[in-house]
Amino acid sequence: MKDIRLGLVGLGKIARDQHLPAIAATNGIDLVAVASRNATAQSVNNYPDLTAMLAGEPDLDAIVLCQPPQARYAAALIALAAGKHVFLEKPPGATVSEAQALGALAAEQRVTLFASWHSRYAAAVATAKGWVAANAPRRVRIDWKEDVRHWHPGQEWIWEPGGFGVFDPGINALSILTEVIGVPVRLVDADLDKPANRQTPIAARLMLETANGVPIHAEFDWRQTGPQTWDIMVETGGKSLILSDGGNRLTIDGIPQSIEHEAEYPGLYRRFVDLVRARQSDIDLAPLQIVADAFLRGRWHSTEAFVD
Ligand code: NAP
Repeated sequence: MKDIRLGLVGLGKIARDQHLPAIAATNGIDLVAVASRNATAQSVNNYPDLTAMLAGEPDLDAIVLCQPPQARYAAALIALAAGKHVFLEKPPGATVSEAQALGALAAEQRVTLFASWHSRYAAAVATAKGWVAANAPRRVRIDWKEDVRHWHPGQEWIWEPGGFGVFDPGINALSILTEVIGVPVRLVDADLDKPANRQTPIAARLMLETANGVPIHAEFDWRQTGPQTWDIMVETGGKSLILSDGGNRLTIDGIPQSIEHEAEYPGLYRRFVDLVRARQSDIDLAPLQIVADAFLRGRWHSTEAFVD
């Protein structure tokens, strides 16, 4: 079977840190070209934008979109209209309706659309999902607290409309939650803190509930200094599970579990290859919908101006 010929758009932090090495390590895919306005990659053909890349590389099979969410829809539309399979970085769009529109277009074009959620491929997530299925949860708590100055230096787009603010990392927690919990989750209530000089939240507190009434309390905060926290705790009658380090470590009833280290992005690319070969799509918008609902339902609080 011939390799899937990939073109990647948006050569920024995540493309360099994760996509390029994962593509190189995955059988069945070949990175042929990159489109980025201000950056170039070695050993591939480089273009200033997607349209130029499609014109110069008519044989591309698939396009990987690694730009910020505000640029996702326009690029995906061009790629799908050209009949290419599309891999979307998370989140799959800046709004739910644009992600839905892309799903419909992919179906019409009979190509694959993969709305990727990298945190679902963290090492301990599958084991946690099995445990939750076997132990009826009674309560869930999420703490996703990190230092925005450390993780997002100079990234203005995260503070602009469609940039998600603290939900840029928070949606990773929601992607794990919706994968592990096994039933639909609805947003009950939300409080959102927005710095006076920014347009997206720096912190959020969400009350959620599963379809069978299990309460979920989530706290996202970008002002965390010192130890960083990416934890999900699940309690059942007398038992507990802690998924920590963004889904990479697991503790059950106080005992750390031995988990084989699995990198997230190679898992994503193996999934993408399988989807393209099967001509299927994977578009789960549940995490994005919860964020949208928090923006709809939340009470907004103004906090002190953010200075980076
Ligand atoms: P980034 O480095 O700021 O941006 C990626 C690249 O996209 C930029 O370097 C830029 O390259 C291009 N771009 C196209 N349109 C843009 C626009 N309107 N504004 C800014 N840049 C634009 O961001 P990133 O950290 O890689 O994140 C990109 C996506 O990956 C986000 O959706 C994020 O949630 C997701 N992600 C990030 C991480 C992480 O650790 N950083 C982890 C997982 C997922 P050119 O100027 O050369 O075109």
